[in-house]
Amino acid sequence: MQSYINEARKAISNPVLQGALANLQERLGKGAAAAYRNLAEGPGLRLKAHELRMQAINNLDVLLETLAAQVEKNGGHVIFAEDAAAAVAACREIARKHGVRAVVKGKSMVTEEIGLNPALIADGIEVTETDLGEYIVQLAAEHPSHIIAPAIHKTRNEIGTLFAEKLGIAYSNDPPTLTWEARKALREKFLAADMGITGCNLACAETGHIAILSNEGNIRMSTTLPGVHVAIMGMERVAATLEDHDVLLRLLARGAAGQKMAGYVSHISGPRQPGHVDGPQTYYLIILDNGRSRILADERFREILCCIRCGACLNVCPVYAKIGGHAYGSTYCGPVGAVVTPLLTGVNRSRDLCLGETLCGACKDACPVNIDIPRMLLELRSMLADGDASWQVRRNSLLEKAGWMIWSWMMQDRGRYELGARLMKRIFP
Ligand code: SF4
Repeated sequence: MQSYINEARKAISNPVLQGALANLQERLGKGAAAAYRNLAEGPGLRLKAHELRMQAINNLDVLLETLAAQVEKNGGHVIFAEDAAAAVAACREIARKHGVRAVVKGKSMVTEEIGLNPALIADGIEVTETDLGEYIVQLAAEHPSHIIAPAIHKTRNEIGTLFAEKLGIAYSNDPPTLTWEARKALREKFLAADMGITGCNLACAETGHIAILSNEGNIRMSTTLPGVHVAIMGMERVAATLEDHDVLLRLLARGAAGQKMAGYVSHISGPRQPGHVDGPQTYYLIILDNGRSRILADERFREILCCIRCGACLNVCPVYAKIGGHAYGSTYCGPVGAVVTPLLTGVNRSRDLCLGETLCGACKDACPVNIDIPRMLLELRSMLADGDASWQVRRNSLLEKAGWMIWSWMMQDRGRYELGARLMKRIFP
């Protein structure tokens, strides 16, 4: 709790960060609402998307089995990883088997979740993030502070200083100059890489494709130049058909950046086939559980698995707007992180996250798949108040519980309320 409070305080007193967060919410928060209004099917498409996602989550076992069979039919390999350690071990083993010395990576929250980069680096492998924001964060030895805008907490002056120091170039704070320098440095990395590692926005059970959205073209380079491509997905990120992809990816681009569609949409079905001009010789899809089965088994929280990690809820959240992503101290921040992180890492351990949100409901309105985050935050708070054996949650102090019970009893009767108010006035004049 103390770390959350301390980090939040630091963030609130950082005027540069406050400016960046206000700018993010102004640009992206409002953009998503306008983009939903402009949908040909109307904002109601979000309800349909919710239905599609819930159907997929309720049939996850069948969809994952179908997906795995399709990927293998397309010539790829599928690995089911029970937890972070198993996923990391699988990646290391693939790298060892293929003699990999250099990896290029696309932006992937799930690889942050499992702590993949340090493990590969410990094996002597050079790992380079290729999304510009992730590249900046990696050079600065920091963690992303937003799901889709990982370096939102950094100013262009800071990035100019960082590039001068790490890339050995002349200082500039001009964004096109800095982007050009990053592009030049990354080209070399793409050409030298033996393995590309990416996340997966959405997989398709019907065809075995995975879809990855980007606005920088780095995904195309990471998945076609190296000889080996490893894609890692949370087990919930599967849709039944390509038709479902159409609905969900259009909403994802709108929620994430107010775009009709991302600049690049890659549908990857497996390794290079005879007649293909590019693509990896070997393709692996790692499907990660890491606590998701437990969420799936609980009807109170299953809905959070509908999340397509667009970041829209961060862009409207009044708490994220003040404290930014790092204060959450976890891979997933903002309203979605306030639900997911306690469920993945322990409700008592991460209780500050779910207690820190305001329950204003802005996240639900902004979510492209209409996830009821405030309801789940209340469920988590209720677990903390009463304890929950199924999640090994210890209840908050009995004193606090007794205090709220007395408050509730007093608020239900005018006479008791007025008596209480008079008493409080005497105690705290
Ligand atoms: S909860 Fe909704 S708005 Fe937030 S990241 Fe997930 S899909 Fe996007």
